[in-house]
Amino acid sequence: FAERTPLIAGNWKMNLDHLQAIALVQKLSWSLKDARHDYTDVEVAVFPPFTDLRSVQTLLTADKLPIALGAQDLSPEAAGAFTGDISAAMLAKLEVHYALVGHSERRQGHGESDELIGAKAAAASNAGLVPMICVGETAADLEEHGPAAIPLAQMQAAVSALPEGAEFVIAYEPVWAIGSGQAASAEQAEAVAAALREALRDTVGDERAAATRILYGGSVASQNIAGFMAQPNVDGALVGGASLKSEEFSRIIQFR
Ligand code: PEP
Repeated sequence: FAERTPLIAGNWKMNLDHLQAIALVQKLSWSLKDARHDYTDVEVAVFPPFTDLRSVQTLLTADKLPIALGAQDLSPEAAGAFTGDISAAMLAKLEVHYALVGHSERRQGHGESDELIGAKAAAASNAGLVPMICVGETAADLEEHGPAAIPLAQMQAAVSALPEGAEFVIAYEPVWAIGSGQAASAEQAEAVAAALREALRDTVGDERAAATRILYGGSVASQNIAGFMAQPNVDGALVGGASLKSEEFSRIIQFR
């Protein structure tokens, strides 16, 4: 297994049409170029809406930009009569590398169950994509169960659905921190990330657990990224709102 290269991922959610998407990636790449960033010690990924994927892929290829492409969702089914759904194979054909599964906005807004999320993670993996499995507790969960119990259960449900040996990324996103401006502290993020990694040792073995990247997400900004990245078990960030601003996302990428 390779070292855990830090991963900074931008989840655009339902924002930007395909022209705005191209403009954002161009501005981001100019900003990183101005700062003489060479992408060698950090992996950058963007998760545009489905309708932007083709345009962003074309730009990344044409300009040889080392930015990975991710999808915000996918169908658990391979193909067929599933109106409105997008398959893992369709995404793989567009050179999509990652697929988000289990984001709290889908767990809550679309009633997605652990079982469905596991099936989506498996579908991604079977098509050669890397599932980015989002887990996290609500404020009520935190009060009732403490910080780690719900993320651990969500992670185990999704990871146990994956084919043996599959690569995956975990994004720990406390629901109370998403879009709230109230990020977890670096110490809180580290405590849960460490518990998740420890549990992974039993589920997927020591080597895979040691190689798996665990990201923190929830109101990440250029002012707090360094604190998260200094934690031994936090290997990157899943960034929502701040990934829509090229200068700010560029500063987050250059967290060092
Ligand atoms: C997210 O939705 O994954 C997220 C972390 O959002 P924000 O950074 O805006 O809190």
